[in-house]
Amino acid sequence: MIQILIEPRNVKLTTRTGVEVRRTLPHAKLKTIGAWCFVDHFGPTEQTDGMVVAAHPHTGLQTVTWLLEGQIEHRDSIGSVQIIKPGELNLMTAGHGISHSELSQTGPQRLHAVQLWVALPKEALNIAPEFEHQGDLPRVTGEKFSATVLAGEFLGQRAKTKIFTEMVGVEIRIPAWEDVTLPLRSDFEYGILAVEGEVTVMGKSVPQSGLEYLEPGSEELKVQTAKEPVTLLLLGGVPFPEKILMWWNFIGRNHDDVALAREQWNNRDARFGQFEDQIGGWIPAPELPNVILQPR
Ligand code: MN
Repeated sequence: MIQILIEPRNVKLTTRTGVEVRRTLPHAKLKTIGAWCFVDHFGPTEQTDGMVVAAHPHTGLQTVTWLLEGQIEHRDSIGSVQIIKPGELNLMTAGHGISHSELSQTGPQRLHAVQLWVALPKEALNIAPEFEHQGDLPRVTGEKFSATVLAGEFLGQRAKTKIFTEMVGVEIRIPAWEDVTLPLRSDFEYGILAVEGEVTVMGKSVPQSGLEYLEPGSEELKVQTAKEPVTLLLLGGVPFPEKILMWWNFIGRNHDDVALAREQWNNRDARFGQFEDQIGGWIPAPELPNVILQPR
């Protein structure tokens, strides 16, 4: 079985004030894991360095926000205003187009977050945008672990989170010095993100913020912890059957899709709506590179 460690790389976000994230997807060696197509790990950091992301657009994807510490306010162009706290999930389905902003709330807590994107299949690329908040996700407690199901089904528990392809997302917490075996679907590929602590996955050591990729074919996940407790995100799905083109905050199928979205956003086209927030302003899309972008 092919198993690849994706080392995180530091990325300074144009959309976040001076903030660095550790990104594992997309990667030169790995485009998607199921429909999961983007994995950013942020913090933990003091709130003063928190997240202030002015209005920006998305197409063709779902954004998933998952917090370990802190609070973030989400606002979007379909009228949603939602504070998210640890253990809850914000899911924004961009479909044809939406814009949103994110503002971390000041308080005693630090900010520690994971931002994920899910690629929409071609039949959902042009649907109307939607937003949902899942405040009561299914939880499973085993002898050696506890798990929260973010999306899809795990150990008989299915999240209500709206998904468009066969996929799963689970947060798993394991105490120190444990050896845990969990069931996998052999038709899924998986990525295991080490959110807190270092962990051994199928015999290979994964550093914090690293992502261990497993190709389809495994029926079991074997995880060992050492001297510290560990928090993992298990992301999986049926390998995404389409080539996609990801550029900036847009996912389309070809160059023209993202070029049109870019032009419409920068011209404040009604496709992406409008809304008011405390941040003010909006983030223009950068110039396209001087080549025809290719899906992969
Ligand atoms: Mn966004």
